[in-house]
Amino acid sequence: MSAFPRICIVGAGFTGSVIAERIASDAGMPVLVIDRRRHIGGNSWSEIDAETGVEFHKYGSHIFHTSEQEVWKYISQFTRFNDYRHHVWSMCGGHVYAMPVNLSTINSFYGLALTPDEAREFITREAARDGRAEAANLEEKAVSLIGRPLYEAFIRGYTAKQWEKDPKELPPDIITRLPVRYTYDTRYFSDIWEGIPLDGYVGLFRKLSAHPLIEVRLGMDFADLRDSLSEAALIYTGAIDEYFGFRLGRLEWRTVDFEVERPACADFQGTAVMNYADPDIPHTRIHEFKHFHPERQDTGKTLIFREYSRWACKGDEAYYPVDTAANRRLYADYAALAAHEAPDVVFCGRLGQYAYMDMDDAVAAALHCYTNTVRPRLLDA
Ligand code: UDP
Repeated sequence: MSAFPRICIVGAGFTGSVIAERIASDAGMPVLVIDRRRHIGGNSWSEIDAETGVEFHKYGSHIFHTSEQEVWKYISQFTRFNDYRHHVWSMCGGHVYAMPVNLSTINSFYGLALTPDEAREFITREAARDGRAEAANLEEKAVSLIGRPLYEAFIRGYTAKQWEKDPKELPPDIITRLPVRYTYDTRYFSDIWEGIPLDGYVGLFRKLSAHPLIEVRLGMDFADLRDSLSEAALIYTGAIDEYFGFRLGRLEWRTVDFEVERPACADFQGTAVMNYADPDIPHTRIHEFKHFHPERQDTGKTLIFREYSRWACKGDEAYYPVDTAANRRLYADYAALAAHEAPDVVFCGRLGQYAYMDMDDAVAAALHCYTNTVRPRLLDA
């Protein structure tokens, strides 16, 4: 491949890797993918821990789930998935409850044995005490869905740790990510398809970028290569404010720190993710990765990550965009600058669009971006 490729993708996460795969396989064009990290896969990357033999998700638990047939069909070309179904438990006041809120959570929390209809009526009455028809923020939305006692127990403390904002300042849609169920279905997600790649995300990303027309260069910062790429069309999946040198200010991100431990037991918590709802416990959750692969031989060892949430500072990994009016305004200003870079630069992905995306959202958006923007604008031109 020439030193000056016609198309360069910045970022080797889901967005960049899917668009690269499409450019190579569908358009038959060469493409260069660069990433400042030393691995592909973005925040979905997984690897095997040498000490325990357990595959871990370097940036916290990633469970692939979708109800989009196009996404499932597309991604299944590059991996098979195991039968893992995500179930989360929440530690609250010294007791363990099923999360998200379902009939088991309600009955255990209140010490009742309600039927589905009784529970629905019970929660409707609870919510009517101080719920509002038009919920304007996360707290009002949560209270309207599950009533104040369950909100106080499972949502308020966790959300305060996760976002360090008053739940009244956060948008309602953060909480509507979680279903409320009046059954004993304790699945975390309600999607049709779900699983963990059988060969890990490492296997998935290797296949996704295996096409001979794709060249991946790792450990390469876009800032250092910018001048040499001036002739290339760019698909930029990095942070949009960074692209513009933060000239309008910094978009806020939440980041997480992981405390890694290899406890001297074969199984630390009996499940992949345990949330910690109480505000006086500093971590939000503990990940125990071996549970993501029940189909694999048990190594008799385990590896856990305690997750702590905080504001991202310069140089930190960006995890969650913070959906406030100020950030939305700032992003809109950057998006207006980005529009002036067209047609030669396409901004996309979680970091490029300042969006809270699950992996399937990222794949769907990347496929859409390729078909509707990249191909007509950069390839068919
Ligand atoms: N949440 C909560 N308690 C929980 C789990 C989630 O309050 O036990 C809230 C919290 O505000 C969180 C949001 O629900 O940010 C969405 O949770 P989800 O598990 O989808 O977040 P992610 O896995 O993306 O961090």
